[in-house]
Amino acid sequence: MAVALKTSYRFAFRSSLFISILLSLVLTILLWLSDLLVWYVPLLFLVLSFLLSFLVLQARVERFIYRRVKKIYDDVSLLESSSFSSKPITTDMKTLTEEIEKFAQDKKIEIDTLKIREEYRRDFLGNVSHELKTPLFTVQGYILTLLDGAINDKKVSEKYLKRASKGVERLIYIVKDLDMITKLETGDLNVKKEPFDIVDLIQNVFELLEMRAAKKEISLTFDMEYHEPIYVLGDSEKIQQVLTNLLVNSLKYGHQNGTTEVSVENLIKNKVIVRVTDNGEGIPKEHIPRLFERFYRVDQSGSRKEGGSGLGLSIVKHIMEAHGEKIYVESEVDVGSEFSFTLERIKKSLL
Ligand code: ADP
Repeated sequence: MAVALKTSYRFAFRSSLFISILLSLVLTILLWLSDLLVWYVPLLFLVLSFLLSFLVLQARVERFIYRRVKKIYDDVSLLESSSFSSKPITTDMKTLTEEIEKFAQDKKIEIDTLKIREEYRRDFLGNVSHELKTPLFTVQGYILTLLDGAINDKKVSEKYLKRASKGVERLIYIVKDLDMITKLETGDLNVKKEPFDIVDLIQNVFELLEMRAAKKEISLTFDMEYHEPIYVLGDSEKIQQVLTNLLVNSLKYGHQNGTTEVSVENLIKNKVIVRVTDNGEGIPKEHIPRLFERFYRVDQSGSRKEGGSGLGLSIVKHIMEAHGEKIYVESEVDVGSEFSFTLERIKKSLL
């Protein structure tokens, strides 16, 4: 380990000055008493003794401090092997104090982050187990009833099996969402930005959700006819996921016979904004700031008719953030909601 001896010499200087003056005085008195006093002898003695004491003191002090300081360094390095080992040891008290202070500060920050992470982990686990419990107990309930004899009644058994299967479907749905969110949060899902036609993508999602929309007699439409493709830059698969989540929500929280409209507008020079507007139940104002949090739901009661995992919007937000784009929401109870997000537009000539 490199040793940088950056010591202040003041201590040794003053001490040796003190010692040498004192000794020279004693010597002068002794010489004077024995009548041997020659003027230059005490002077010479003063200089010599000063030099000698200075050297000895300086060396001793340095060694002493070095040993102590090294011990402190070693103890600290035991805790934090990376931050000190590469740096030279210093015997300078000021630098040492500064470094120890910085070390303590770093540790405090680290402990705070760990605490937040721990809280987040506890929350996450609590939410996950809560989410899984309901469908799991439903499935278990139907299976137990079947085993208890319901299996012998063909009609009942079929009904129960179908319900159990629905429960399993929901479990799979939640696990898939969890998987997605974990990947997004750990940054495993990197977005591959490529130009694609957003109008075509929206049309695709409309077709995929056609059956679900028909069930609630909700019409999925564009705000106008888009004759020309609109090219944007993004990960089309992920943007498809965003649109699907938003449109599925508009179906889940939309009224029977309602309408969900999608529009693509120019925002600024090279940005478009995609809006998904429904005339469904809307969202009370107080819930809006927390809407994009994981597992956050407006209807917190377990008796939701529309059972999502509460992860849909949080996935949407993660994807848009990974794109470096924005997502907005506006909503009014009993009027409807509008979710919109921006995307980078690509001029046809650049394709
Ligand atoms: P969920 O799986 O519960 O749908 P989301 O994260 O997708 O979870 O949505 C969070 C909450 O936001 C929902 O529980 C719902 O109350 C509210 N919400 C989302 N989209 C809409 C919408 N289009 N209209 C009304 N409420 C909505």
